[in-house]
Order: sequence, then C-alpha cells, then structure tokens
Amino acid sequence: GKTRPMEYRVAQLEALGRFLDEKKQDILEATAADMGKPSFEAYFTEILLCKNELNDTLNNLCHWMKDEHVDKNLVTQLDSAFIRKDPYGVVLIIAPWNYPIHLFLVPLIGAIAAGNCVIVKPSETSKNTERLVAEMLSCYLDNDCFAVVTAGVQETTRLLENKFDYIFFTGSASVGRIIMTAAAKHLTPVTLELGGKNPCYVSDTCDVQNVARRVAWGRFFNAGQTCIAPDYVLCSVEMQEKLMPALREAITEFFGSNPRESPDFGRIVGDKQFRRIRALLCSGRVAIGGQTDEKEHYIAPTVLADVLPSDPAMQEEIFGPILPIVVVANMDEAIDFINARPRPLAIYAFSCDSKVVNQVLERTSSGGFCGNDTLMHVTLTSLPFGGIGNSGLGKYHGKFTFDTFTHHRGCLHRNMGLEALNALRYPPYSQQKLGLLTATFEIKRKGTCTLL
Ligand code: NAD
Repeated sequence: GKTRPMEYRVAQLEALGRFLDEKKQDILEATAADMGKPSFEAYFTEILLCKNELNDTLNNLCHWMKDEHVDKNLVTQLDSAFIRKDPYGVVLIIAPWNYPIHLFLVPLIGAIAAGNCVIVKPSETSKNTERLVAEMLSCYLDNDCFAVVTAGVQETTRLLENKFDYIFFTGSASVGRIIMTAAAKHLTPVTLELGGKNPCYVSDTCDVQNVARRVAWGRFFNAGQTCIAPDYVLCSVEMQEKLMPALREAITEFFGSNPRESPDFGRIVGDKQFRRIRALLCSGRVAIGGQTDEKEHYIAPTVLADVLPSDPAMQEEIFGPILPIVVVANMDEAIDFINARPRPLAIYAFSCDSKVVNQVLERTSSGGFCGNDTLMHVTLTSLPFGGIGNSGLGKYHGKFTFDTFTHHRGCLHRNMGLEALNALRYPPYSQQKLGLLTATFEIKRKGTCTLL
C-alpha cells in the first residue's frame, strides 16, 4: 500500500524531475559516449520530452486518480457506480538502447503515477547510459518500491520467469514474442512497443524543398535509430528526380559538406548494428552519401534511388541513416504497397492536396500517422503512441500511460435498504417480474419511438 497515496506518487515523480535536472549533463555525456548522440537531440528527446510527460502527469494526476462515476440504470439510481483506478502491482519495464532514458522513463512516470512498484531493465547495449541509470536512479527513488536491474539476455530470461503484474516492453518484434510468451505463462498483461518499416508517401503535388527537409530530419535524427523514422519513401519516378537534389541540399544544409565532421550527426550504437546496416547499402543505387567508417561506427546520411521491393533494404527495418526510394506509379499503388506489408508503427504522407493525405490515412492502418511531416506526432502528450499488429500492442504517452498501468476496477456500492426494489429479480420468477425486469434494465436504442 506504500505506493498508493497521491502524496507518495507526487514525491517520487518530483524526484524523477530532479534526476533529469541534476543529471542533465551526465545524460548528455552518456548518450554521446554510447552513440555519438548530438547534445541537441539528446536534450530534446531524453530530457525535454520526458519533462513534458512528467509535468503533464503532475498537472493532472489528482484528476486522473479520482473515481470516475458512471451512468446507472433505474434499479441502481440510489447507489454509487464508479471506476476505481487501481494499480496493477509490480510492473516490469524493459527498454531498448536508442533513446535509453526516454524509453524507460516515460513508462516509469505512468507506472509510478498509477501507484505501482517498478523494476526497470535498461538496455545493456547503451552501456554508459545503463550504468548511469543503475547508479543514479536509486539515489532519487524509494528503493523499497523501485529497482533497476542491469541484465543481458540470460539474466533477463531468468527475470522473466518471475510473475509480474504488468510487463511493458519496448524493442524488436522478435524479442517481443519472447516477452509475450514468458508473460503468457503467468497470464501477465503486456504492452509491446515494437518497430517495423514506416512508409513515407510523397505525392507529385508538394513543396519539394520542405518535404526533403522534413523527411531528412526524421530519417537522419539520431543517425536513423528511431522506431518511428520514415523507413522508405514511395513516390513517382518524376518526384524521385525532384527529391534527389532537394534531399542533397537538405543534408548539406543540416550537416555540412562532410557529415562526418558535423557535431549534429550521430553514430551507430555498436559493431553488430553497424555491420547489419552497412550490408543494406547494396540496394538500388547510392544517390547521396554511402560512405562508412567501421572504427567510428559512421554511416553517412545516405539516399538510395530506384530500390526494388526485393532489395535487402526492403526486407527489414533499416534503423540507420539510409533512406531508400521505391518508385510507384501513383497514390493507389503506394497504398497497395503499404497494405501488402505488416502494419507499421507510423505512416507519413506528404501532399499539398489534403485529400491525398486523407486518402492515405483512410485506406491504410498503422500505429500512428503524420501528414506533411515526420516524427512530430510523438511530441504531443495528448496523442496515444503505440503500434498495431506487428508494430506492437497497447499505447502510452500522457494520460494513456497512466491508463496503461491502471486497472480500471468496475465498482458498484449498493444501498442496503429498499429491498422491495430487488424483489423483481428473485425467484419464484413470473411473467410479470420479467416485464418489470425488462423495463428497469433495458437499454433502448436512441431515436427509436416506442408507443406505450
Ligand atoms: P531488442 O529487442 O534487441 O532489445 C530490447 C530489450 O530487450 C533490451 O533491454 C534487451 O536487453 C532485451 N532483450 C534482448 N533479447 C532478449 C531476450 N532474448 N529475452 C529477454 N530480453 C531480451 O531491441 P533493441 O535492439 O534494443 O531496439 C531496437 C528495436 O526496438 C527496433 O526494432 C525498434 O524499432 C524498436 N523500438 C521501438 C520503439 C517503440 O516505441 N515502439 C522505440 C524504440 C525502439
């Protein structure tokens, strides 16, 4: 019961705020050491967006926690019917390495806000950040109720043998299956925040310079290691011709003539990931970039033209600074292409004609959607964030995180008296009782007229 009072939750959340403020420099340094994350990007995603989630939660917690009173039927008019916001109990949060603070902290905020105890398992791949989290978080949070476990695959496998009350996992679909299987043994509910290939359709009617900037920003942010990054562009052959110089210009504008020298362009997190991404460069034709340096884990911002659906870059999530362009005849063909593949975490559509953007939205399915930009939908705490199908299960951000970690307990507190009103449901049954029962319990379709 220790984590239940609002004052306790607020105190722990405020401590998380102090962690972000006081350890800001350490966070920037750890993420820079792990993947050359530019400090601007680290500040934006690991600190500012987390602070927004935190403040949004603190601003609304007392309202979110309240019992929600609901509509009643005739028989329960004198009773109290409400939804109690109960914590699940002990929650396990498993995070990946690409936004190593954000992706454990944002779920942690909601789990604490909802009154749970939490075990956090950061990724072992981003080892500098993992160390920082393991050493520092215990200085801020109540160690009776919140713990950080540092673990590789073996230890995590053992950790998962325990019975948790909720598991929140962010990572790849293949590990997501392992998590769900382990959770199934205990019938533990899960949220799975997975990845996939996010298509980006660019129609023939658009402001090419703006599209190029917005797509290049989304693709090359964090050196492409973003789950909602536009993974590939679908456009006509004419648009590919126009986009190419605009993309080159945008890349030069962002990172200078040699992006390797730019403090604003990151690196790939490790050897294994570097080699996997480099192997995708043989797809289509390298139109921009293509340079690599294994020692530095550097892959230049790269655009591949005329990529075929059968090319390596189209077989898996790229998760690196490579943007393939796949030529399609028109919007209908782009939509068919998208619908022939697993449902992605995000779909992007660019057009000056809002009908085109709406068509793509209406005729496809994905976790989230952003028209005429990339990534920006994730900055709104008012929007649910999560996948569908292969890209995940469940949603979070803002109040959705609180709701994810809350058991919505349906409660009815009845009046002990007025027994005569209950008589109609007790045996012995009769036709007359059935009539009364129907009249008092029935929900009628609105707008239908009944002649009494
Ligand atoms: P990953 O699945 O390899 O690892 C994620 C976490 O699972 C890590 O903490 C890791 O230690 C743990 N893990 C790995 N193997 C395990 C096993 N066999 N048993 C138990 N735990 C295991 O993913 P990653 O490489 O860290 O991250 C990249 C993936 O995450 C990409 O697919 C990306 O799209 C996805 N992602 C999704 C989101 C989202 O919000 N939907 C955000 C970031 C990343």
